[in-house]
Amino acid sequence: MDKRSIRELDASGKRVLVRVDFNVPLKDGQVTDDTRIRAAIPTIRHLLDQDARVILASHLGRPDGKVQDGLRLRPAAERLSALLRLNVPCTGDALGIGTEDAVRRLRPGEALLLENLRFHPEEEKNDPAFAKALASYADAYVNDAFGTAHRAHASTYGVATLLPAYAGFLMEREIRYLSQLVEDPARPYAAIIGGAKVSDKIKVLENLTKKVDLLIVGGGMANTFLLAQGKSVGKSLAEPDRVEDARRIIAAAGERGVRLILPTDVVIAKEVTQGAEYKTIPAEKVPASWHIVDVGRQSLATMEAALADARTVFWNGPFGVFEMPAFGAGTRHMARFLAGLADAGATIVVGGGDSVAAVTQQGLAAKMTHISTGGGASLELIEGRTLPGIDIIPDAAPAAGTAGGAA
Ligand code: ADP
Ligand code: MG
Repeated sequence: MDKRSIRELDASGKRVLVRVDFNVPLKDGQVTDDTRIRAAIPTIRHLLDQDARVILASHLGRPDGKVQDGLRLRPAAERLSALLRLNVPCTGDALGIGTEDAVRRLRPGEALLLENLRFHPEEEKNDPAFAKALASYADAYVNDAFGTAHRAHASTYGVATLLPAYAGFLMEREIRYLSQLVEDPARPYAAIIGGAKVSDKIKVLENLTKKVDLLIVGGGMANTFLLAQGKSVGKSLAEPDRVEDARRIIAAAGERGVRLILPTDVVIAKEVTQGAEYKTIPAEKVPASWHIVDVGRQSLATMEAALADARTVFWNGPFGVFEMPAFGAGTRHMARFLAGLADAGATIVVGGGDSVAAVTQQGLAAKMTHISTGGGASLELIEGRTLPGIDIIPDAAPAAGTAGGAA
């Protein structure tokens, strides 16, 4: 799945509209995690170095088509300016005469950021007039917002039908690593799926049973699998109405010869609060009034032994309530183990907002082969779905010398 790349765009002097994913966490008007802004820098730098005029566009949060002061993009523009050492102003609105004027006054090598696109309901509706207004700012369009590529919005889809469209460097990297998992992973290929709920990830689990050699399930979603095995999970987070889905996945793994590992011991706590009493017990012995909050050491040892020869690992979803340090041991342990596997040459891809946060918190992000910036988008790709924001970018021209050789 090779898409026309920003490398093929001669941007010099051109106005380039770049869809970035600056949907960053904010607290008191400050960006608390700038990973997504940093991830867009190579594309922005590349264009500025070519003396392009760069018009950046993003959404932030869910303002539902109305202006919300707490969701203005100014803090992101300030952080970007600091990272680029170049003043990147933020307009007060994505549309309007003031914005059109600011775009017109941009000089080569300058950039501005449009205000939160989702202040306009037309963005998420992929409204043609809104897409046309955005397209009118520029001569070319680059999509580097992988995290929003699963949405057909005006800025991710509509504009790409109106302007010559290219994939940015981040988009390219995301497509390369994630599509490799779907198309041609080095084997043994293992998937580790954790996180809160089975219902969020049923399709992914189902699709993975068709692809992987080893499937490890942990986190809150494992509780529903424990129910499917006839174990009781006390007051733990679980979805009794998804037990049938869990059974189906267990059966599918069995039929396809996929080794499935579920927790055999778990950390339980009296309350899901930091400081609450907790202990490790076998998974079949969870008392009625306790909560499963993490996987136990014996489970981790079994998982690690099974993963030892894996050449590809996809990890999505933490193993426990890792936001509370006492219940994050399993997640931290797995992050360190996978960093070691990556060091030893395995391809380790981590996707999902919370799993990535867990890896980043430990300073292990650089060790992994690829950290996906898109939670939902990465899961949809792994599910084997076509993402509209990627699909609409034309395919790369066949490499010179290969007769009709589309990759
Ligand atoms: P990701 O963002 O990596 O895809 P999810 O959003 O699916 O992951 O799940 C992350 C959440 O799952 C975290 O907030 C974590 O506290 C929660 N979680 C993990 N294990 C448990 C558990 N045993 N009980 C309750 N919540 C859990
Ligand atoms: Mg999450």
